[in-house]
Amino acid sequence: MASAPPSPSSGYRGRLAPSPTGYLHVGHARTFWTVFQRARETGGTLIMRMEDLDPDRCRPAYADAVLEDLRWLGIRWQEGPDKGGPFAPYLQSKRRAIYLEAWRKLLRTGRLFPCRCSRKDLETALGAPHERVQTAGGGGKFDTLDDEPLYPGTCRRFMGGTPQLPGPTASVYEDPGGTNWRFRVPDGEAIEFVDRNLGPQRFVAGVDFGDFVVWRRDGVPSYQLACVADDAAMGITEVVRGADLLKSTARQILLYRALGLPAPAWYHCRLVVDHNGRRLAKRHDALSLRALRQRGLTPMNILSADLPVEV
Ligand code: GLU
Repeated sequence: MASAPPSPSSGYRGRLAPSPTGYLHVGHARTFWTVFQRARETGGTLIMRMEDLDPDRCRPAYADAVLEDLRWLGIRWQEGPDKGGPFAPYLQSKRRAIYLEAWRKLLRTGRLFPCRCSRKDLETALGAPHERVQTAGGGGKFDTLDDEPLYPGTCRRFMGGTPQLPGPTASVYEDPGGTNWRFRVPDGEAIEFVDRNLGPQRFVAGVDFGDFVVWRRDGVPSYQLACVADDAAMGITEVVRGADLLKSTARQILLYRALGLPAPAWYHCRLVVDHNGRRLAKRHDALSLRALRQRGLTPMNILSADLPVEV
């Protein structure tokens, strides 16, 4: 159900938004190639934004490797950490002030509540591991962005569903402090959008996803918040990314709405899976671009390879 590519006069702005948590693999190569193609077809601008917010998982060496691997594939961008540009800095780790501003706006408009639940509390509330969402790797660990478990509502109930916010000048608005902050989703509301590649999509708030974290207790803004704040600030007109992030798109649509920002168009790429039908992850070292390149494969082989199959 693919639609026509955007028109050349659209002022198209796309982005590559890798997380430097490991080496890129075939799945990334194909998604990023699509991002590049969509921008190139329109004579649009492509931005490289390094999503290096999580200090526990991101490494500068991986960020360098991502840039090198994408250049090797033949992908080029016009703005980025290596090029500069009107929306610098292009490293999320240097854009905290922008995320804080978004967090403050959400808090002031009563969309957030502080959450004191630990990961263990959530696991207990959600029941036995077999009832939980499994990751593509089957490990039962919530290690992808879309895997955030349905929040059981503990701290939302405690707030009585209506945050008791202090006056607008109170210091609570200045800093998120050492607590998690969640976005209160409109339970039962269907979030619908037409994906430019996969067609109509529909997710129900409170069923397909719950109150999600926008700011972590360790001081790190969440992917959902940072991504929306940056895509809006950088004037992105179309977000192209993997279909594993469809549910995140639904969450992000709620953030755009709450922040009063126009949402971009969406184009989600089908995922690449391995021979066992598992989604590729950075742990599939044998399918990393580095390993394949060392084995003598060319960018053309990788982009047209029938090594892993698509679903
Ligand atoms: N940084 C995210 C990831 O690597 C992708 C973000 C996006 O494209 O929205 O999974």
